[in-house]
Amino acid sequence: MMDNTHDIVIIGAGLTGLTTAFALRNKNRNVTILESDNKIGGQIQSHHVNGFVFESGPNTGVVKYPEVMDLFHSLNDSCKLEIAQASAKRRLIWKGSKFHELPSGLLSAITTPLFTTYDKLRILTEPFRAKGNNPDESVAELTKRRLGSSYLDYAVDPFLAGVYAANPTMLPTKYALPKLYDLEQDYGSFILGAIKKARQPKTDRDKTATKEVFSTHGGLSSLTSAMADKIGSDNILLNAKSISITPSADGFNINYTVNGEQQNIKCNKVVTTCGAYALSTLLPFVDSDIMQTITNLKYAPVIQVGVGIADTKGVCHSAFGGLVPSKEKRDVLGILFPSDCFAERAPKRGAAYAFFIGGMRHPEMIKLSDEEIKRHVIDDLHSMMKYPAKTQPDEIEIYRHDKAIPQYESSTGARLKSIDLLQQKYPGLVIAGNLRDGIGMGDRIKQAYDIAASM
Ligand SMILES: Cc1cc2nc3c(=O)[nH]c(=O)nc-3n(C[C@H](O)[C@H](O)[C@H](O)COP(=O)(O)OP(=O)(O)OC[C@H]3O[C@@H](n4cnc5c(N)ncnc54)[C@H](O)[C@@H]3O)c2cc1C
Repeated sequence: MMDNTHDIVIIGAGLTGLTTAFALRNKNRNVTILESDNKIGGQIQSHHVNGFVFESGPNTGVVKYPEVMDLFHSLNDSCKLEIAQASAKRRLIWKGSKFHELPSGLLSAITTPLFTTYDKLRILTEPFRAKGNNPDESVAELTKRRLGSSYLDYAVDPFLAGVYAANPTMLPTKYALPKLYDLEQDYGSFILGAIKKARQPKTDRDKTATKEVFSTHGGLSSLTSAMADKIGSDNILLNAKSISITPSADGFNINYTVNGEQQNIKCNKVVTTCGAYALSTLLPFVDSDIMQTITNLKYAPVIQVGVGIADTKGVCHSAFGGLVPSKEKRDVLGILFPSDCFAERAPKRGAAYAFFIGGMRHPEMIKLSDEEIKRHVIDDLHSMMKYPAKTQPDEIEIYRHDKAIPQYESSTGARLKSIDLLQQKYPGLVIAGNLRDGIGMGDRIKQAYDIAASM
């Protein structure tokens, strides 16, 4: 039995936990990570399969905050940042029987078949439309009101499927797309707001935040591994099971087991970064009514399928990927084309794809057998990606996530209130991770830096 005192303990060695620990180490703070799994990375896991690189979690992040570039600068060259090639700017949306490019300029905005002529004309009057006054208005309602149904069906619905694997009628804009919500609330219009924001003076640091898409050379696991190396393996305890935290007079007591053996440590501060569903066991001292408002967070189940074609025989899409609107009634949520955006993701003449299935649209699909999933994917490879019928994938890897993406539904307000209350009542306790502050990699990095700065 071990008994020792630590300064800061972080629960979870995913992107949030590792980045928090890394940023704290850079401030010369003493940090220990407790991770229940036998490996680091959490949802970030890259798989190298016969010349293909498949991700089972995120494929890319967006450089949306300066903290993302801060992280890569601090890591020096220990992991190589890859900004997506220009082709990543091409985003495709499925309509009818093929993918269409999402408009990127005035001419394509006018000529695109994705939106109705009525909505295209109506968008000119968007700046004059009244500001919404329902803070719980869903993304679907807000989009329909300001932009029209065809923009909801063929832009926002597939976008939300791609980011949250979600149904846009279920997510209040305030929680799911806070920047969009603020545009309307602060400027009365998306169009005017976007123009005014773009004209605001920016510091050199602000300018490091962009819309660029990133990964890291060899896959995103090289990012988490580089951080783990800097944090030091002595400070990351894997296989820490049944963790239970109790507040004490001078901090927190943490009990857990490793290989069935009971361990106990004390610490001044503790940061949880795991999913909401893990918190009732982790924080047994919290009143069950309050805990219930946190653990009722729903998660979309998602199956990601890595598909490798060794020789595409000239089939080429040159795009970031294609998303599928729910109106189109297909099983797949979207397909990413990582080898079109990043180097060495497939053999020289080949291509690597990531198919996404399930989500809140088809939660039942998580139960499909591997054979059924393969059948769906091969069918889509021919009917959607337009590979000739004789082309069969050289690799298919199936990655299932029962609890992939948290859904920031209308219960979010009560959840955030409970988290604030607990953090105030128990100074030194931080409840973090993607149950709040955004699910994207950029959001996770920003949250981690904010936590480290506050300690
Ligand atoms: C299929 C999929 C695709 C995605 N695609 C994208 C994308 O393209 N772009 C993007 O930006 N984001 C994407 N995301 C979201 C992004 O991956 C996550 O938000 C982010 O990786 C979460 O990091 P985290 O550290 O907060 O949580 P996690 O990665 O879940 O890490 C939490 C860690 O805590 C550990 N843990 C859990 N319970 C306990 C416990 N009781 N005790 C100790 N340890 C515990 C877990 O084992 C895990 O290692 C995707 C997610 C999934 C699942």
